[in-house]
Amino acid sequence: MFEYKHLDGDGNNIELPVGKVVCVGRNYLQHIKELKNSVPSEPLLFNKPSTALTALSKPIVLPKGLGSCHHELEIAILINTRLSQSSIKTAEAGIWGVGLGLDLTLRDVQSALKKQGHPWERAKSFDASCPMSPFIGIGQIATLSALDFSLSINNQVRQHGNSRNMLFPILELLVNISHAFTLLPGDIVLTGTPQGVAALSADDQLLIELNEHFSVRTYVV
Ligand code: ZN
Repeated sequence: MFEYKHLDGDGNNIELPVGKVVCVGRNYLQHIKELKNSVPSEPLLFNKPSTALTALSKPIVLPKGLGSCHHELEIAILINTRLSQSSIKTAEAGIWGVGLGLDLTLRDVQSALKKQGHPWERAKSFDASCPMSPFIGIGQIATLSALDFSLSINNQVRQHGNSRNMLFPILELLVNISHAFTLLPGDIVLTGTPQGVAALSADDQLLIELNEHFSVRTYVV
């Protein structure tokens, strides 16, 4: 069932294992405001297991009977080398490439968990909760600090982000995470969502674009 593999821009398999997905919460100010959260003093981290990964091009299946499922479109970094206690330099050298992922979130479940002070896995880490695009090799990425990306649903732009608006920029995130726990080759880091998160509905048509690099279409069943 979990036949996910990392793909490059030409649709070929990338020879890296499929690992964990490390997610960053509250990394864009406008998104923090829309959910009325507080601004973190260090990156807020949580993980999705490898079983959360699925190809973004596949139809999105919403979990049933668990309330609203929100889209959070995020820049995804595919890790190429083991990163532990890294510096900016080793973090930069440890990136395979850049893609886009959806951090699908059962918002009602998450709100209930937050109220109880419980971890978020039930809301964030279910099977196929992390649809993932192909990855563009780091050699083709001009700069990590001006990556522009967007999500349109039914021909309306719903999320539009740029990595220049991150509270913690990409390399700083990798360094920070690598001091909390080890990143392995094949792990992915999801770098937080910009504003515009909202519930997905059956039959929604999604267009996801990493400006100047690729676009992927998918839909909700
Ligand atoms: Zn997220």
